[in-house]
Amino acid sequence: MKSEKDIYQEHYIASKEAFELWQHVPAPVRGELIRCFGNTLRSHKEEVAKTITKAIGKTINESRGEVQEAIDMCDFAVGLSRQLYGFTMPSERPDHRIQEVWHPLGPVGVITAFNFPVAVLAWNFCIAAVCGNSVIWKPSEQALGVAEHIKFLWNETAWSFTRDTNGTSLRDLLRVLPNEPGYGKMLAHDKNIPLISFTGSEKTGRQVASVVANRLGKSILELGGNNSAIVSDKADIDLAVKGCTFAALGTTGQRCTTLRRVFIQEKAYERFIWKMVSAYNSIKVGNPHNDKTLVGPVVSKECVLYTRQTIDDAIYQGARLMCGGHEVFFGDNFNYVYPAIMSVDTPIPIMKEERFVPVVYLCPYQTLEQAVRMCNDVPQGLSSCIFSDDVNETEYFLRNSYTGIVNVNTSTSGAEIGGAFGGEKNTGGGRESGSDAWKQYMRRTTSVINYSRYLPLAQGIKFD
Ligand code: NAD
Repeated sequence: MKSEKDIYQEHYIASKEAFELWQHVPAPVRGELIRCFGNTLRSHKEEVAKTITKAIGKTINESRGEVQEAIDMCDFAVGLSRQLYGFTMPSERPDHRIQEVWHPLGPVGVITAFNFPVAVLAWNFCIAAVCGNSVIWKPSEQALGVAEHIKFLWNETAWSFTRDTNGTSLRDLLRVLPNEPGYGKMLAHDKNIPLISFTGSEKTGRQVASVVANRLGKSILELGGNNSAIVSDKADIDLAVKGCTFAALGTTGQRCTTLRRVFIQEKAYERFIWKMVSAYNSIKVGNPHNDKTLVGPVVSKECVLYTRQTIDDAIYQGARLMCGGHEVFFGDNFNYVYPAIMSVDTPIPIMKEERFVPVVYLCPYQTLEQAVRMCNDVPQGLSSCIFSDDVNETEYFLRNSYTGIVNVNTSTSGAEIGGAFGGEKNTGGGRESGSDAWKQYMRRTTSVINYSRYLPLAQGIKFD
């Protein structure tokens, strides 16, 4: 029987061989392959969405959105394949040119969390591939069957794509490791992997980051969030309730961008709280395969118990339970708990943790400065938002909110692929998906080209 080490090694060798050939394929041709992958995903969107829903209980509606995000990433990467620009700088020396050129890195390791098993792979894989890299993917042990489905569709795409690739082993551009955590560890330790993109909890992220840093590798860290909203007395309260409800309930509170803390100006507090409680009470929790379900199950029985535990801990620290928090049974294989709203007079210690369960805290504030301070007063820094129609307030918030994603009059979750996604502080500092995130998947060379017959030196140094 093969050992785990042998299995890992087989994946690595195949990925490395694929990379050796793929790096020489012109970038726009690489983009063409990713365009075809996008088309494959388009024609299998519903099936992949069903696989996600079955695996992790995400509502079918949101699963479709997740597959769409992967399709959007393919489109983005196709355009990018013709835009891997480097700068040319003026040289201080006569008849010289300074030029930046970007090259692929090699096989890139991608370790993903359970809650976005397809989109996060796509953020990394589509970009890494057009940049000329191969990818070794370690999917989550909680998202069973999803990686296999994606790998099958990738193989189909690669099989039918032969143009201009000199027989490159395209299927091996994406290798999927078994989903047990041990393979994630091996990937992180492997000094042949120049870049590890890790998405998951802060606890695991710290382990991965230190292993990769210790071997002087590069990492992109997309870790936990603890996201907040400010609702001003100058906000459209119905818009704020809708935005906060979506952000707190979406994916049953299991998004990295899930809204966990809402600070409401005291004049609007009572009105907001009752509107949000009544919005929660009107939403039915149900089977995620049902098209009409807005809130599905949580990922596991442990998550139900942890929700209960979180509510008890919060009550112990002085919070009041406004609604939800009870377990429900629908006789299927999923685990359900009603999302909870808790209210507090001032922040309590538990609000500094990301517990990854559907519990949101509502808290009043007096001044905007105080609200922004409370938003920032957590170890994480992923996403935040303000609801206000006052431009002075929104500009103050945009300047002072210490998160990677900062929104006005819209929710903390539901980011688009075009911007760079990621957060500050214990969220890890990584940026993935759009904008110039591609630069992390390449190595930059700076070249000086002398097209004269002399050797003038920089900074006026003489060596004659
Ligand atoms: P997790 O940390 O438990 O697992 C993430 C991945 O790491 C899994 O594939 C797991 O098998 C692997 N792993 C476990 N131990 C490892 C080790 N020692 N070395 C290498 N890999 C190892 O996270 P989870 O419960 O799957 O996901 C939830 C967390 O992910 C939340 O904290 C959430 O906020 C975060 N998340 C962040 C983002 C983001 O973009 N910032 C996106 C999605 C999820």
